Amino acid sequence: MNPPVPSMASTDLAREWSIVHILSMWYRDHHRRLPWRETRDPYRIWVSETMLQQTRVETVIPYYHAFLERFPDVAALAASDEEAVLKCWQGLGYYSRARNLHRAARLVVERHGGRIPDDPRAFLALPGVGAYTAGAVMSIAFHRPIPAVDGNVLRVVARLENLCDPVDHPTVRRRIERLVEGWLQQAEPAVFTQALMELGAVVCTPRSPRCGACPVRSACRAHRAGTAEDLPKRAPKRPRRQKVVLALWCETGEGVVVEQRPADGLLGGMWQLPAHELDADALDAPSDAGRDAESGGAAEAAGPVRRALMDCLQRVFPGTACHAVRFVEVARERHVFTHLEWSVRLFRPEGMPAGARVDRTRFRVVCRDELGGLPWPRVYEKLISGALQMLI
Ligand code: SF4
Repeated sequence: MNPPVPSMASTDLAREWSIVHILSMWYRDHHRRLPWRETRDPYRIWVSETMLQQTRVETVIPYYHAFLERFPDVAALAASDEEAVLKCWQGLGYYSRARNLHRAARLVVERHGGRIPDDPRAFLALPGVGAYTAGAVMSIAFHRPIPAVDGNVLRVVARLENLCDPVDHPTVRRRIERLVEGWLQQAEPAVFTQALMELGAVVCTPRSPRCGACPVRSACRAHRAGTAEDLPKRAPKRPRRQKVVLALWCETGEGVVVEQRPADGLLGGMWQLPAHELDADALDAPSDAGRDAESGGAAEAAGPVRRALMDCLQRVFPGTACHAVRFVEVARERHVFTHLEWSVRLFRPEGMPAGARVDRTRFRVVCRDELGGLPWPRVYEKLISGALQMLI
């Protein structure tokens, strides 16, 4: 049975009723069947919401299944080591999500007896749990009227309300959170939270919103004002920092030299080839260009690129006289992060002196067949596959 329509004495009330109840009814009838919508298990919902941050649904689905097969509950996740978790996350990006989820699972076991807390403050205290994830898990798994406001929801509400200020401004964001909170008080939280998300994903899309198919268009102020396509407004973005990463393919008789990135920070805990990172503008174009080897055509490092590679090589083989080594480029990739762009160039040192010893306190030597067992960032996966093809 449909909920009663409020007295039409207030058009605002009628409009709110329409947003809350028509949207909820639309969701019940039309939502996409997604694996995390088949469960009320807070752990599974938490995993899905973590994976879905900055990542498309189609990309997440196979990872979600594989992750839950490997770590079916909080206890299994808490008991695993970080490397296994990162391996399962490999290719999904934003690896701090995986590391935080793993740390948080351990705290859930230690502090909460393995039960995910249904108290938002306790849940928010876990690593990696921000206001959005807390709102999503609290409302979907525990039916608590706590808003989950991500980019999709900001867009939908900015249009419903015809808000023309930048939605990334804290006061506008807070206003949107308060509006959603008010709607949730009148709704079934699990349904309404997902209804807003679903509307943003399939109807009120960033470009060309399908207003003709929208269940709440009669309540939508941007639709009425003809501003839907222009909203939401955002503050201008700062350009991404450009970095050049110079990596080394050092292969000894025992295998390939690899290193683990520091636990915290970008791609923390993932593995990489020995590398040196530089600001792109620190390389001056003519000397950085390298020169083609006179006969073969493979680019050989020169200038600051050579100096940086030499520093890196000396870290790998401390105390070895490497001054006569040449660095020949074997692969190149670009990778774009949210605020940063990497241009990664992989070089192979040629002419290494015999008997050079790897610093085993900082690096690991892995035979080619075992490289695939480590968790690599996608950009290194591609580089290694390129290098292996070239260096067969
Ligand atoms: S009417 Fe158009 S702009 Fe308004 S909520 Fe629906 S799809 Fe979005």
